[in-house]
Amino acid sequence: MGLRSFFGILPPKLYYKDVSAPIEALPVPEKITLLWYRRTHSDLAVRVGTKVETGQDLARNGRGPFVSTVTGRVEEASTFLGVDSREYLAVQIRADQKDSFDPSVTSVAGLSETQPQTLRTGVNRAGFTALRSIIRDPRVWPTVDCLIISALDLDPFSIVNQQTFRDNPEQVEAAIELLARTTEASQCVLAVPDNLADIASKVSTGAATVAMVPPVYPNGLPEILAKKYGAGLLMKTYDAGFAGNTVVVSLEHALAMVNSLQSGRPMLEKTVTLSNGQDGKLRNFRVRIGTPVGEILKRASVEVQPKGKLILNGIMRGYSCFSDEQPITATTESVHVQSPSEVFFFQNTQCTNCGKCNSICPVDLEVNILGRLSEYGIFNKCRGLGVENCIECGLCAYVCPARRPLVHFMTLAKQGIKTVTDEPANMEEALACTACGPSCPAIRLFDFDTESDKEDSPKV
Ligand code: SF4
Ligand code: SF4
Repeated sequence: MGLRSFFGILPPKLYYKDVSAPIEALPVPEKITLLWYRRTHSDLAVRVGTKVETGQDLARNGRGPFVSTVTGRVEEASTFLGVDSREYLAVQIRADQKDSFDPSVTSVAGLSETQPQTLRTGVNRAGFTALRSIIRDPRVWPTVDCLIISALDLDPFSIVNQQTFRDNPEQVEAAIELLARTTEASQCVLAVPDNLADIASKVSTGAATVAMVPPVYPNGLPEILAKKYGAGLLMKTYDAGFAGNTVVVSLEHALAMVNSLQSGRPMLEKTVTLSNGQDGKLRNFRVRIGTPVGEILKRASVEVQPKGKLILNGIMRGYSCFSDEQPITATTESVHVQSPSEVFFFQNTQCTNCGKCNSICPVDLEVNILGRLSEYGIFNKCRGLGVENCIECGLCAYVCPARRPLVHFMTLAKQGIKTVTDEPANMEEALACTACGPSCPAIRLFDFDTESDKEDSPKV
């Protein structure tokens, strides 16, 4: 998958897979499950038993869009804890095999002359979240300085955007033109992995400049693209702690937006890469949003072995998933079937201060210290050290010889900052840690007074 460094001096390189895998379309499944983040039954305009059409907004007035991706009947609505530990409202629909489209689904007429605000409304109605922040409140984000359309993927084992670029080079120019007008971005960049330079040289990109990006993880992550090729930081929702004026849209989503504006239909399908740790093969499948992961496994004749794992959204940033009923969402990029020999066990062992996590961190965090602070619940100090800038790339955990669950510590700290205000009672215990010896940089942070303080402290 990548190169580990010679004698451990240089950080290892993880290359994105350079594989062409045609996209296979799956039929509409018998049942789909649609997930709606932090919503309750009272936000729904439908009930159990209601007949729904494809493209119908299931949300009560103004609370959506939350669209049905099939025609069928609502079978259940319940709260659901996702693999990312977030709470969702889950709506199950028993699907008909034939689509009947909701009459409100209409295209945006005269796209070439349409005003940006009308285009943005069309994109918003179709349920795309990438442009929400500028659509919701133009006073806060009045302009977009840079739009990046990315043909890179989010995980080394995902080839969704690469394949979309291989299959649709002739549609790229139209997507750039329309999205540049929709966002009114003053600069537009098409980011392409180096290995697809041949295709990029033949693509007409209009006003966009082409950035050839080394296909090394995490170069495809939006935050890295925004930093290296955009106008600065990534535009995110207000409470994410970021400010900036670059919007990054995946090529798959960009083409889907154009399709939505032309046809009026929301994004109904999602392409996901299935990677199989047992034989190393990658395959792409296009499914209705809401399709259970199990349908993909069945089609590919792949089974999760005892003691193996199912991982959604990438081996570096993804989550284990304990049920093949888990639905594909508009942002699911990949499904990885991990063989038992690949399963990596994290351990809560002590940090040896080797510094590997710090040297590989793409946003220059002091990961070793942050890991310890988070482990002991000292979240306020984590904030002071900038834990909110962690992009959860997973590289620190990948290189840690002590196998510490560093990404989990980072996400724990981010959550903790939102919910905990006081220093916890176990501050004393954390300060007492002598596991790393006198060279521990955390000693400076923790402000030990004397060497004897350390010697007297018990090991934790
Ligand atoms: S957390 Fe792991 S990688 Fe980082 S310094 Fe400690 S042992 Fe090394
Ligand atoms: S997961 Fe966060 S802390 Fe770890 S290397 Fe990536 S950005 Fe740095």
